[in-house]
Amino acid sequence: MRHRCASRRLFLGLLGVGAAAVLSGCASHASAPGSPTPAPVAPVPPLPPVPAATPGASKVLFSGPTEGGRIVLTVDDGTCAHCVAGYADFAVRTGTHLTFSPNGTYAHEWQPHAEALRPLVAAGQVQVMNHTFSHKDLRKLPAAKVREELERNDEWVQQKFGITTRPYYRPPFGFHNATVDGIAGELGYTRAVMWNGSYSDSETVTPEFLMSEARKYMKPGVIMLGHANHPTVLGLFDQLLALIHDRQLTPVTLDEMFDTSRAVGTV
Ligand SMILES: [Zn+2]
Repeated sequence: MRHRCASRRLFLGLLGVGAAAVLSGCASHASAPGSPTPAPVAPVPPLPPVPAATPGASKVLFSGPTEGGRIVLTVDDGTCAHCVAGYADFAVRTGTHLTFSPNGTYAHEWQPHAEALRPLVAAGQVQVMNHTFSHKDLRKLPAAKVREELERNDEWVQQKFGITTRPYYRPPFGFHNATVDGIAGELGYTRAVMWNGSYSDSETVTPEFLMSEARKYMKPGVIMLGHANHPTVLGLFDQLLALIHDRQLTPVTLDEMFDTSRAVGTV
């Protein structure tokens, strides 16, 4: 445990993250019995109220700027309870910047971790984007249903995580068309987030395959697609962080990559 905490601190330092240190529990693990309790860290102030949507034309994003060595790690769905738990723990204990794309239909899987993730969301370490409530192909739904899928999921995210998902959404399977884009834009989802790198883990994969995909795609500006659906990734977090470190990459949220405001949910 001490070894892991030391490596956590290294990554916290590398990633410039302080807020997660208090949440990691590392200090208590590292302290000898009877040693003084570490000084408490100031709590993260709550986010301001969620503002109204800002409608506009929807723009499709596949990647970010390559300068600066930044990458966006996105984590979709949440069909597997202990995969969601593993990702939430990973966020808390390492301070890695992540963007979650949960579906409200998996509220049962996400709910136990909302309390732990809220301060990370408030601190800007974790972002949540809209992946619709029930993960249907939006192209096959009537307009009113497309609207409902986006609005219902955002209401759930606001309730559980205290933040709006706007202006970012990822259509399930990456499927969208002009009609879907138009509806999304009207609702303030002016950024449809695709990806240009993936662990290819929407199905069960081997650890070797997942890491080979990570090595293939982890480059500056990548929007990396992952899933909280299969447990393979859970044993690979240390290897993934080592790869990110070796390549001098910095995980950032969508807001950080595209210079949008988490607080107001607009560009
Ligand atoms: Zn999905």
